Amino acid sequence: MESKEVSELSLSRTECEKCGAIWINGKHIFSGTAASYDNSELDLAGLVCNKLGNEQCINPKKGQDGGQTWAYRAGFVDGAIKAKRDTLDDLNNMINP
Ligand SMILES: [Zn+2]
Repeated sequence: MESKEVSELSLSRTECEKCGAIWINGKHIFSGTAASYDNSELDLAGLVCNKLGNEQCINPKKGQDGGQTWAYRAGFVDGAIKAKRDTLDDLNNMINP
């Protein structure tokens, strides 16, 4: 049996006990969205590990600044909501001048 080839396909999966963050073959992915991109570890640190992480946290970027934070995301969402509201106001003004 060709068991050697199968073993080469095995994935290493590491999970942060503290944050629940998952690394597949050493690359961090966001567990909810499976998003994976450069600097995602830094975003993870800003969003989760810097607040919740302790010595159990295995994120190599824990404690580093520069990633996204909830404050940044809240600002982004506020801006998006305002843009949508402005658009609705414009529509309203067109329909009910
Ligand atoms: Zn962590």
